[in-house]
Amino acid sequence: MSASIRVTIWNEYRQDRDWPEILAVYPEGIHKVIGNALGAQEDIRVRYATLDDAEHGLTQAVLDDTDVLIWWGHIAHGEVSDHMVQRVCDRVTLEGMGVIFLHASHASKPFKKLCGTHSNRLKWREDGARERIWVIEPAHPIARGIPECIVLDQEEMYGEPFDIPAPDELVFLSWFKGGEVFRSGFVLRRGLGKCFYFRPGHESFPTYYNPHIQRVILNGVRYVNARDTLGEMPQVAFGHMETAPEP
Ligand code: ZN
Repeated sequence: MSASIRVTIWNEYRQDRDWPEILAVYPEGIHKVIGNALGAQEDIRVRYATLDDAEHGLTQAVLDDTDVLIWWGHIAHGEVSDHMVQRVCDRVTLEGMGVIFLHASHASKPFKKLCGTHSNRLKWREDGARERIWVIEPAHPIARGIPECIVLDQEEMYGEPFDIPAPDELVFLSWFKGGEVFRSGFVLRRGLGKCFYFRPGHESFPTYYNPHIQRVILNGVRYVNARDTLGEMPQVAFGHMETAPEP
């Protein structure tokens, strides 16, 4: 059996720690619900990191020991230090760490830096109405085991236009009860790494307990896994070349 996938789940951990109405939905924190689901897999090892930990829990040693980083942030994007953002992005682009950005992490510093866009703006409405997440690329590994449509009875609406670069792989498209649509799940390739963005997961709704949502995140972990990605590649060395290779 291949080595375990080393997953670090980073949570801003403010609303689900401090706001009673959110704590009621996620008593242990959003990161623990995601981590409990992933950790049930034999080949996945989960560790947690939060904004208020030293270095946001993302020391160089932790990142060096991470194949896939999962990111959930919402109200405190501005408190993430630029130094840490650079460290995360370097680990993705130069060393192939996979990264999964969830929900409001569309506006997080590392996602915006990896996107290369300025605003990442979208439309939103926190009305708790129905969302249908349609699989538009059924053969994609991230859609494995998922029905043609995931129905969430209560979610926040995110609507197009979404200011992102054209995705390299678009897997899910959401429909909302108001008629809006949204690119809900896609992959961007950045340097040696893969980034997967997945939309659902507003903190006041129990989205991360949904088994289909958990399965998408699991598939995402396996798809962006650094060791898989790099295992397919020739050895790459960046930097100055002393001598020219033989022609
Ligand atoms: Zn939200």
